[in-house]
Amino acid sequence: MALLFDGVVFGPIESRRFGHSLGINLLPLTNKVCNFNCVYCECGWTELKTQRVLYFHYEIVCAKIKSAFQELAQKSIPVDCITFAGNGEPSMHPQFNAIIDKVIDYRNTYLPGRKIVVLSNAALAGNPKVVEALQKADLRVLKLDAGSDAMFQKIDQPLSGKSIDWQISKLKAFKGRLIIQTIFLKGWHNGERIDNTEEQELELWIKTLKEIQPESVMIYTLDRPAPEPLLEKVQPAILDMICMRVEKEGIPCKVYL
Ligand code: SF4
Repeated sequence: MALLFDGVVFGPIESRRFGHSLGINLLPLTNKVCNFNCVYCECGWTELKTQRVLYFHYEIVCAKIKSAFQELAQKSIPVDCITFAGNGEPSMHPQFNAIIDKVIDYRNTYLPGRKIVVLSNAALAGNPKVVEALQKADLRVLKLDAGSDAMFQKIDQPLSGKSIDWQISKLKAFKGRLIIQTIFLKGWHNGERIDNTEEQELELWIKTLKEIQPESVMIYTLDRPAPEPLLEKVQPAILDMICMRVEKEGIPCKVYL
């Protein structure tokens, strides 16, 4: 069953990767909005029919974030970081850049010291305004779920049809100021085999990491129900092996289970 967040601000939730993570969702509450259609997305399948998306108005988003930050500060509720995530791809909000500016302001006033994290698929990293916004975050955690284009198309199903080479070129443009996140999984989708732990895939993925030179790499496997029921988790020992191979290349890597 799809998991959708029911507010602009949610949590803090206990995150495997970010501790007490206060979530910010800029996307509608009733359906997921994304430019990828990942087979594992906990928000469910992306609606493929083109329809007008009604984003939260900038003023409403800012007011809700400000009042949530004020309340958390007043009640001394633990928050380790402020994370843009939610019901789809955060950078699709038309005022994403201006909203990041406001969140930085409110963070400095009410929750100083907390890191602002953006989880993004980087599909809009060809847009200078989106890149500017991502650069303002303390941490950019960007997706690279495959080594080959064929596996990228099968796992992430980018709606634009852009290739993994395009995606990699945009990730490289961050000049190392990014964290890469990769989910490892196996299974089937539409009668096609999915397995990004195969040797050929891993070799290509590691070669790409060496080109991108991220600050670090986060790897994990399925944690919540996926819209594609024929997917399986990857065993922790395999994730550990992958992690060791990345670290051998001098790139910090961590497994999140
Ligand atoms: S990029 Fe994220 S929100 Fe979009 S489909 Fe993939 S997992 Fe879901």
